[in-house]
Amino acid sequence: MFTVTPIPAFNDNYIWAITLPEQMSIAVVDPGDAKPVLIYLDENELELSAILITHHHNDHTGGVGELVDRFNIPVYGPASSPFKGITRPLKSGDTVNLFNYPLHVQEVPGHTLDHISYFSEQELPQIFCGDTLFLAGCGRLFEGTAKQMLEAMNYFNGLPDNTEVYCTHEYSLANLAFAAAVEPNNEDIGSKIGNCESLRQHDKPTLPSSIGQEKKINPFMRTQHQDVIRAAQQFSGSQLIDEVEIFAAIREWKNQF
Ligand code: ZN
Ligand code: FE
Repeated sequence: MFTVTPIPAFNDNYIWAITLPEQMSIAVVDPGDAKPVLIYLDENELELSAILITHHHNDHTGGVGELVDRFNIPVYGPASSPFKGITRPLKSGDTVNLFNYPLHVQEVPGHTLDHISYFSEQELPQIFCGDTLFLAGCGRLFEGTAKQMLEAMNYFNGLPDNTEVYCTHEYSLANLAFAAAVEPNNEDIGSKIGNCESLRQHDKPTLPSSIGQEKKINPFMRTQHQDVIRAAQQFSGSQLIDEVEIFAAIREWKNQF
């Protein structure tokens, strides 16, 4: 399986560095800033061999220009992207060959229309999901619909429970505070808050999460659970039954939280 290391950027972004043991080069996911990547390469005497982009937002793509000026490397990313720096356009069903292992591409629109994720199916599966799935949360709907984001959540729900989840932002504590408001009686959320608080006190990432964990704590992955449905109905003040409406209500609640 891939060795994955966070390179912190801006306030709360992680640029994930992917490699294999013994490999002297890395690929990076969503380099919004080139500088921390260049420092990481320098400090660890590594080469950069590829860039993977999940969506067009500048905090995910802003460093691409400077990195490709220095390294002659492929830039993978969504075929439908308004970001112009992509040299290997991808769509659902495509595979990226990374250090001779496949990464499976899935379109997961919602946060943006061009958003894709990358799934590695090795002994320990791993997913790079950008700004779609977060620990205990999901991305804001800037371009897509609640229905699209729910479909993305359903795709993540179908991955193996032990899949490591590599999101781009350290939003865990704020997301968990919201998750606890939606499901005050969910003990898994309570214990995860304690765990993440102590990690953040020591300045450590709370990521990766796992799909199995998200199924227990993430309200956006739990829109079929009675407590989440009831909370959504209470927030909206109406008898929502359709799962898309329930998802949309929870998303709207989070926007205002
Ligand atoms: Zn974004
Ligand atoms: Fe972002």
